[in-house]
Amino acid sequence: MSDAIRVRFAPSPTGYLHVGGLRTALYNYLYARKVGGRFILRIEDTDQERYVEGAVENLINTLDIVGLKPDEGPATGGDFAPYYQSQRTELYRNYAAELVEKGAAYYCFCSSEELDAMREEQQQEGYVTGYDGRCRNIAPAEAKKRAADGEPYVIRLKTPDEGEVFFYDIVREKVTFNWDMVDDQVLIKSDGFPTYHLANVVDDHLMEISHVIRGEEWLSSVPKHLFLYEQFGWKPPKMAHLPLLLNPDKSKLSKRQGDVAVEDYLAKGFLPSAMINFVVLLGWHAAGDREIFSLAELEKEFSLKRVNKAGAVFDIEKLRWMNGQYLKNEPLAEIIKFARPFFLERFGDIEEDRLSRLIDYARPRAATLIEMTEECLPFMQKLEYSAEDRALLEEETSKAMFSFWLEELSLQKPLTAESVNALLKATSEKFDLKGKMLYSPLRLALFGTEHGPDLLQIIELSGLQTSLKRLQIWTD
Ligand code: GLU
Repeated sequence: MSDAIRVRFAPSPTGYLHVGGLRTALYNYLYARKVGGRFILRIEDTDQERYVEGAVENLINTLDIVGLKPDEGPATGGDFAPYYQSQRTELYRNYAAELVEKGAAYYCFCSSEELDAMREEQQQEGYVTGYDGRCRNIAPAEAKKRAADGEPYVIRLKTPDEGEVFFYDIVREKVTFNWDMVDDQVLIKSDGFPTYHLANVVDDHLMEISHVIRGEEWLSSVPKHLFLYEQFGWKPPKMAHLPLLLNPDKSKLSKRQGDVAVEDYLAKGFLPSAMINFVVLLGWHAAGDREIFSLAELEKEFSLKRVNKAGAVFDIEKLRWMNGQYLKNEPLAEIIKFARPFFLERFGDIEEDRLSRLIDYARPRAATLIEMTEECLPFMQKLEYSAEDRALLEEETSKAMFSFWLEELSLQKPLTAESVNALLKATSEKFDLKGKMLYSPLRLALFGTEHGPDLLQIIELSGLQTSLKRLQIWTD
C-alpha cells in the first residue's frame, strides 16, 4: 500500500442524498483537500432489491451542485475503475472463495424458515439473537459438493467466539468489542452478490483507501472488517467514525421529523454554500467562535482532530439563519444566479434589471429563495383588501389624490427619491393632508398594506405601469 492519502465516500444509492451522507462526503472531501489526498466516490450498489432508477445520476449531480467533485469515481473515472460495486461482483466471489479455502468462511445452507425458527427460539429463551453457527461443522468437501449440486447457500465469515478486539478510532480513540457479540456475518448472499461488509473491505483495500471516514452507525461493523483484513493479510485503513446526527429531541435524525434529503433543501431555496457551511458544523468546529466558512476556507481550516464524539443536533432554525446570512452577504450576482429559477417559476419572465432589484430587495428579508419570492408577491400580483381598506381607498379625497398622482407620476422622468418627495409635498399642500392621512391611502393603493418599503421602491419594484393601474382602479 502506498503512503498516499486516499479517502472515499461510499454511498448505497437510495434515490436521494441524506444530509448525513452529505456530511460524510464533505468531511472526506475536506480531509483530502487539506492534506493533498484524493477523494473517491464509490457506489455501493450490490443490494439488488434496493435498486432505484436514476439514483446514482441524482447523487452525482447533487454532489456536483454543492461543489464536492470527486477526484475519482463513476463519472470521473480513475485508475481503480470500475467504481460501481455491481460491476465488481466476480471479484468479491473470488475473495470469498479464498476465505473458504483458508477456513475463515464457510458455506451455510440454512433456509430463511430455519433462520426464523432459530431467532424465535433464541428470543423465547432470552438469548441474544444471531446465527448459531450450525453450518460451521459441515465438512468442507461435503459443503462444496452440496453447493455444486445446486443447493442454495450463503457464505458466512467464521468470526472468533470469544475474546476481545480493539482498535484506535481517530474520533473515538480506543474502541473495544467482545467477539461473542459479533455474528457470523453473511459475506455472499444466496443470489451470489456480496454483502456490504465483504465488498466494502475488498474495495477499500484494492482502491488503496488510507482513511475510512463514515458515520457512527458503522462502528459496530469494524470488528468484522478487521477480522476480514486479518484473514486476507491486509493492512486496515485508519478509521474515523463521525458522531450521530440527532433531531432536536435527541432521537436519531429521521425522515419523520423533517426533511433529510439534500435535494429537498435545495428545492426549498437553501443555497449550496449555506448547506455546506451548516453541515460542516454538525460534528466539527473551528478553532475560534467563527461559524461562517466558504468551502474554499474549509479546505484549509478542516481537521479530523476537531471532530466531536457527541451527537450533533440538526437544528433547522440554525440552517435558516445560516442561509439568511448567505442571502444577505454573498455578492448580488451570485444570489441572482440561484434565485432566478425560483423567480421565473413563480412569476414568469421578468426583465433583467427589475429581477435584480427584486432579488436585492428580498434577500435581507428572507431565509430561503422561496421566501424571497414570497416577499415580492405584493409587487407582482393583484392586491387584496379588507372592507376597511376599501372604504379608505374609495373615499373622495383618496380618489382625488390618486387622480392627481396618475397625472403627475408619468411626468416624473426619471423617477427619483427627490421627485417622489416633491410630489408628496405638492399632494400634501393641494389636499391639505399630512402624515398617515397622506401616506396610508397611497401605500394601500400601491402596495396593499400601510407598511413596507418607501414609495419610490414600491413603484420601481412593481413597475410604473402596474403602479399606475393600481391607482387607476380606484379612480374609475
Ligand atoms: N455503503 C455504506 C453506506 O451506505 C458505506 C459505509 C462505509 O462508508 O463504509 O453508507
